Amino acid sequence: MEYGLKVKGLIDGVSDELRGERILGIRDNEIAFVARPGEVSGEMPILDAGNLIAMPGLIDCHVHIRTNGETDRRLQPLTDLPGESTLRAVNNAQADLRSGYTTLRDCGGMEALAVRNSASRGETLVPRILAAGDGISATAGHMDQDRYVGARVLSNPGVADSPDEVRRVARNLLKLGVDLIKTNATGGTFGNGHRPNPGAQQSTEDELRAAVEVARMAGKRVASHAMGEAGIRAAVNAGVDSIEHGFWLTEDVAHQMAEQGTFFVPTMATLYRNTTRGFDGPGMTEEWKEHLRQRAIRVRARLFESLRFAIDAGVKIVAGSDMGGGPFLYHGECATELSQLVEAGLTEMEAIKAATSLAAELVDRDDVLGRLQEGYWADVILVDGDPSKDISVLQDGKSVRGVILGGAAVSLSRELLQAEGVVESIWGRVPWVAD
Ligand SMILES: [Zn+2]
Repeated sequence: MEYGLKVKGLIDGVSDELRGERILGIRDNEIAFVARPGEVSGEMPILDAGNLIAMPGLIDCHVHIRTNGETDRRLQPLTDLPGESTLRAVNNAQADLRSGYTTLRDCGGMEALAVRNSASRGETLVPRILAAGDGISATAGHMDQDRYVGARVLSNPGVADSPDEVRRVARNLLKLGVDLIKTNATGGTFGNGHRPNPGAQQSTEDELRAAVEVARMAGKRVASHAMGEAGIRAAVNAGVDSIEHGFWLTEDVAHQMAEQGTFFVPTMATLYRNTTRGFDGPGMTEEWKEHLRQRAIRVRARLFESLRFAIDAGVKIVAGSDMGGGPFLYHGECATELSQLVEAGLTEMEAIKAATSLAAELVDRDDVLGRLQEGYWADVILVDGDPSKDISVLQDGKSVRGVILGGAAVSLSRELLQAEGVVESIWGRVPWVAD
């Protein structure tokens, strides 16, 4: 399979410039060349994408595909039939794919592993998935949840209460084939217990260090959920690769992150949605919902300060929306994060890099993902509008007219589909990150 896509403009994921009219040459699963229209010779069929702009398929570095913003999602493990949550995960991942996301880093949930494996066999068409499986959490910690009292005897397999237990749990996760290890350094907005304290440290530095040690030996990365200052500091000291959320990041830890090369995934979309759509869940009183909304407003103001520290210190900021991770956080809306990053002070192009080349660096696949350059995997989206001038055109995939995964069409606009037979349409015939 070989074809060219003629586009009005091209964002390559690394350069600060929007390039003018280009032909993007695609051969099998890869980008063969990027050329000016006059420079292409030979018999290659060229699809004219008219006014559309090509850019790398987007990468979201923090999602939970097992859930889709349901207000009763914590009850699902008790009410789901076997397999139900995995089918839900497929559906959620496909919503992200349609909206322009060709790679997802799943930060908690065993379903993502099953979906990834199924996709790698060509059974399911979803974005490329890097999965953490169960997050490692202290007893009663942030991810020791979703198992109500009666079922608690089952014990969450990700629970670990000492460095040795962390090593055992991390090794078990590696045995199951996780792509990264997720740790929980602090509490969370929706963690264990009815009224969790998101800032409280829950894992010790030694426990976090043990996770990093085991992951390093296996050549894997470590992401750490860390909201409060002490937990963020412990995780950064332990050498994790990314701080997830980082709501109460301080100036000096931001400098330490910049020095160490620790990535920051601020998941700004969560607090934005919490303030605009509020909260809900089984047994929640009106008073508690309003308390949470007010808290989200305050924490969001503090997160903008964290972003300022991180931008000034030169921390690598990467896009992760946390879709699925809380009520009213719906798949298909991952690009909310990009608009939020721009609101917090990134330029449009910086926000785009945060979801392309820089995100590829965090997931350790910057040799093949996140760029429209020769030799990279042909994950391409075609956009009606210029995201480098107005990031909101990516919102909800509303202006995404084409999604190409590994050179094959997942979806294309009606005009391009008239050239049927040139682009191979696929059902699971792409190279997977896990390969
Ligand atoms: Zn999350």
